[in-house]
Amino acid sequence: MDDKILYDITKFTVLDYEEHLSAVLWFGGCNMRCPYCYNSDIVFAKEGNFDKDELFRFLKSRQRRLEAVVLSGGECTLYKKLPQLAREIKELGYKIKIDTNGTNPKMLKEMLKDNLLDFISLDYKAPSYKYQEITKHKNFTLFKESLIHFIENEANFEVRTTVHTDLLDENDINHIIKDLYDKGYKNSYYIQNYMHQEKILGTLKEQTTELDITKIKTDLIDVKFRNFKI
Ligand code: SF4
Repeated sequence: MDDKILYDITKFTVLDYEEHLSAVLWFGGCNMRCPYCYNSDIVFAKEGNFDKDELFRFLKSRQRRLEAVVLSGGECTLYKKLPQLAREIKELGYKIKIDTNGTNPKMLKEMLKDNLLDFISLDYKAPSYKYQEITKHKNFTLFKESLIHFIENEANFEVRTTVHTDLLDENDINHIIKDLYDKGYKNSYYIQNYMHQEKILGTLKEQTTELDITKIKTDLIDVKFRNFKI
């Protein structure tokens, strides 16, 4: 990286990429402002702390101990040289998972075509009619383009939504489920319960009521609940 756009590196985790020992690369900057975001330092970062040399020194030192690298943020696809960086990481033998809000379909398509993405976690932030209100990003169609492309090309990916009931209710989630079904989505859909933290982007408080998961449609696609008391 010419500039120090890499905000931070998590050197070892088994939590981000299931069944893979991974390092997480946190890219600064984001084109959304989700009120529940707990990465506000990363979202507003103008400059990071690591350059490319430092990153690759680290990755080379872990080559036989880690299996994968997770590209995360912020929104890592804002970094224009991400495909080239991913290529160089793959050349070291690492698998790559990407966490993305899907708003850069052009880059994501290119990376998928070039076999640079072993797994994709795609955030379906909100139904189209609430998308701008929640994310402050206007262009739902960019996300939709990524989603349809991943479905049509049978990418190895998951779709997930974080739920705070001040923002999304059961009808909204069922709308998303129906939309995924209509588009031919065949993988699991993860509904993640908001877990309160003091430092978040917006002014959300703890949820007073949780999503009523008995009202969620589970007959169309495989739905999985994360962080709910079931
Ligand atoms: S939660 Fe929203 S604001 Fe935070 S990094 Fe993800 S897309 Fe950006």
